[in-house]
Amino acid sequence: MKLSSRSKAYMIPEYSLTGDLLSFLTCNLQYRYQNKGTLPPSMPIQLWFGEFIHGVMEEAYLQWELNKTPFPWDWKKDIRPIENMIDARLQVRGLYPPKEHFFSTNHPSNENVDVNERDHKKLASARAERAINYWGPHLFPLIDSAELLIKGIRNMPHYDKNTSRSNYYGINGVIDVLSSLKINETIENTRQTTLDSYRNKIIEYLKNDKEFQEHINSIDGDEYEVIIDYKGMRRPSNQKEDDETWIRHKWQILTYAWLRRQQADAKPIVAGIIFYLNELVPSKEDLIVVQQDIHNNLTDIPKEGEFKKDVALIENWDEDAKVPELSSEFKTARSIRIININNEEIEKALNEFDNVVNNIESSLIKEIKGCKIQDAWKAQGDERTCDACDFKTFCKNKKTKPKEFTIP
Ligand code: SF4
Repeated sequence: MKLSSRSKAYMIPEYSLTGDLLSFLTCNLQYRYQNKGTLPPSMPIQLWFGEFIHGVMEEAYLQWELNKTPFPWDWKKDIRPIENMIDARLQVRGLYPPKEHFFSTNHPSNENVDVNERDHKKLASARAERAINYWGPHLFPLIDSAELLIKGIRNMPHYDKNTSRSNYYGINGVIDVLSSLKINETIENTRQTTLDSYRNKIIEYLKNDKEFQEHINSIDGDEYEVIIDYKGMRRPSNQKEDDETWIRHKWQILTYAWLRRQQADAKPIVAGIIFYLNELVPSKEDLIVVQQDIHNNLTDIPKEGEFKKDVALIENWDEDAKVPELSSEFKTARSIRIININNEEIEKALNEFDNVVNNIESSLIKEIKGCKIQDAWKAQGDERTCDACDFKTFCKNKKTKPKEFTIP
């Protein structure tokens, strides 16, 4: 009797929008080492902070929903326990905080330290505190669903039954969703007041966005949704067609909209909002880039009008001097970005991500067939990415700043 052999396992490769697709676009080779290698990176600051601030905002919302603790929250009493919890979760995943940015009491040598604001509230904590106390009062009352897992399936681009790993691929992400119900409820609750502190800044930004208003007026019924994402980074440069990070964030929101649409309880998705949370407490390095953006006209924040004073402060700031005190209106404007959703743009974004998946799969197949890692995956980090990359010591294609020589 002939025994039948077990058929090959059917596997659909699964890609996360941020963890895989955006990370691959930053540098193919770095993505390969970080995501498909056996060693986790030692200290990926940007990755750690991105995950940290995301976790802190999600947890802060859950606690606000539970206890309705009024804002502003006290850093040591209300926020520090959240930071500790998120830090511990990240450490389990091998993501350890950079010492100069975060004081971790989950480290054995710091366990019994009595934490105080002056000595232990480092940059990551300062940003967490600002993000919660600044955006929390406006954002949390509008959230309808938090940490919603969205998943979808797409045809594998350029499928070939002899070489492709599967005829489909999966795509996923995690989002927060605001609903028209909560937005209207908040408008109703604040209708009676003329006090500035009661005005919801997010609703005001949405009201002032012409495209958003046209869209909600055009939909059937009065229910709609807005997708939220947080980024632990500064607002990207955004005046040219090739400002890649800016465009990719838009694709990400559009793809989230497509994924959310497929869920049974979804209402029409009219927009996405990204919060660039570094803008609330910019570091010296962030400000240097903002200064370059202003100088080269690479930012959408206007130089004239209400932000004239802030722009002048940044333009005249010397790197060796203290970071200038910027107005909260300027920081707000730089930290919020509204992305309107339309079908044509969604199609474009999906095609772009299909191409990315195709490129990841091609590199993977090359490697499976015996090609060397550095030949199978393109090394394409820019100077800033290479400088912070853990693999620069052995990467043949790293881009580093040319050494400056001084003549004695
Ligand atoms: S050093 Fe630069 S090019 Fe090389 S893997 Fe890292 S980011 Fe990519």
